[in-house]
Amino acid sequence: MHKKKLIKEQNPKERIQNFNEVSYGLSEEQAIAEASRCLNCKKPLCVQGCPAEIDIPAFVMAIKEKAYKRAADIIKKTNNLPAVCGRVCPQEDQCEKACILMKKGKPIAIGYLERFVADWEMENSKQSSVDSNQIKKAGTKVAVIGAGPAGLSCAADLANSGYKVTIFESLHAAGGVLTYGIPEFRLPKKIVNHEVKNIAALGVDIKLNYVIGRTKTMDDLRAEGFEAFFIGTGAGLPHFLGIEGEGLNGVYSANEFLTRINLMKAYKFPEYDTPVNVGEKVAVIGAGNVAMDSARCALRMGAKKVYIVYRRSENEMPARAEEIEHAKEEGIIFHLLTNPTKILGDENSCVEKMTCLKNKLGEPDDSGRRRPVAIPGSEFDIDVDTVICAIGNGANPLLLSTIKELKLGKWGNIEADENGKTNVKDIFAGGDIVTGSATVIAAIGAGKKAARVMDEYLKGKKC
Ligand code: FAD
Ligand code: SF4
Repeated sequence: MHKKKLIKEQNPKERIQNFNEVSYGLSEEQAIAEASRCLNCKKPLCVQGCPAEIDIPAFVMAIKEKAYKRAADIIKKTNNLPAVCGRVCPQEDQCEKACILMKKGKPIAIGYLERFVADWEMENSKQSSVDSNQIKKAGTKVAVIGAGPAGLSCAADLANSGYKVTIFESLHAAGGVLTYGIPEFRLPKKIVNHEVKNIAALGVDIKLNYVIGRTKTMDDLRAEGFEAFFIGTGAGLPHFLGIEGEGLNGVYSANEFLTRINLMKAYKFPEYDTPVNVGEKVAVIGAGNVAMDSARCALRMGAKKVYIVYRRSENEMPARAEEIEHAKEEGIIFHLLTNPTKILGDENSCVEKMTCLKNKLGEPDDSGRRRPVAIPGSEFDIDVDTVICAIGNGANPLLLSTIKELKLGKWGNIEADENGKTNVKDIFAGGDIVTGSATVIAAIGAGKKAARVMDEYLKGKKC
């Protein structure tokens, strides 16, 4: 059975009217049936395909035996955010792609099973109500900067190793992109909050509204007795196309657009007081997850026509296959092999049109994808009143500019080895701030690896 057909979803016509979760998840019966297909391989290829190296066959077998708590414990040994990963990880390119049953075109639906277990645990186990401030840890003080998946997983592992961990987060809510970027209909915020609370319950102190580099510097924290630092500040600086008209009213970065909607709850305006102005005809530039999320949010905010404008073809689109399919089902219109060259405004400097050029595909570029080549004379205009730029993000320079000794790469990202070591002995880093925009599970994996080497570093200091 096609994986997507396994799971019940909100009807596309209804769901574009609301922000409720699109996928309902597997029933218990379905989960057991799916788990029973697993061959429990001696050399499980699926585990090699998982960046967090979850013992997939063991948790799948536990589901088959209805031992859901055991299944959850197995996952949580290597992944602190299972309910998140079960929903947003690109399993089709990772564990499921590697699954031996892929050869027959029917890999085990590992992501759906992970979500089933995590949701079961959320419903059936009592959330710890421990206030992290009440847990008096005597251990060495460690600071984690950024409460995204990289920072949260690093903090959880360090707390489990006995350190007194404080996370400093610049926004008023923890979760990073999980909270401010990925929309409610893909990842309900109550799920993120639940996982964050579990991490806080390990004794991790999460300080919000705390911008390191501004509220306090790293040197201030050193003076307060923090002995090691993990930087997981993500890639939150939006890129623009650099074309004429990007300063017009009605042009957003995807970052601003999604933050207004998700973090500031603009979709509940006026109950929440941050508005977002979405026109009737919206063009989203780009074709990654961020672009699909922006397009689908615009639709739910009342836009009549929403276009994805992408310079390459469908084969090169970086978004998850499931998200592209969802976007198509919801009526998003795809302008592929199309490159915007100019945004035109009316007499009030509001967006009115976007001029585009058609492309054809040339030879592969450095990314291995075929290069888009403009077709001369193919200009055409699209009538739009909102343009959302979702072509990628760079490293936020604010914190990094205050740590002069830290070595950065040519794009401003932190240079760190595969374990998160930087050129500064007490500073470690991981997630998007090192790799550039990547995935939730890659950020979790980076946080966990860094926690291991930070532990070694801190133990070494005491010898
Ligand atoms: P982030 O999640 O960006 O978290 C960094 C945190 O650091 C933020 O909370 C930020 O406020 C904080 N911070 C920054 N500077 C400071 C400072 N100076 N002081 C204190 N705090 C600071 N990946 C997937 O696997 N699947 C998906 O479906 C998917 N969809 C996505 C959709 C969108 C809209 C976006 C933007 C990304 C998506 N990704 C997806 C990518 C994924 O979310 C990121 O790769 C991942 O969140 C990176 O984690 P991180 O912890 O490195 O950074
Ligand atoms: Fe099960 Fe597939 Fe992993 Fe084998 S590779 S253990 S069949 S999930």
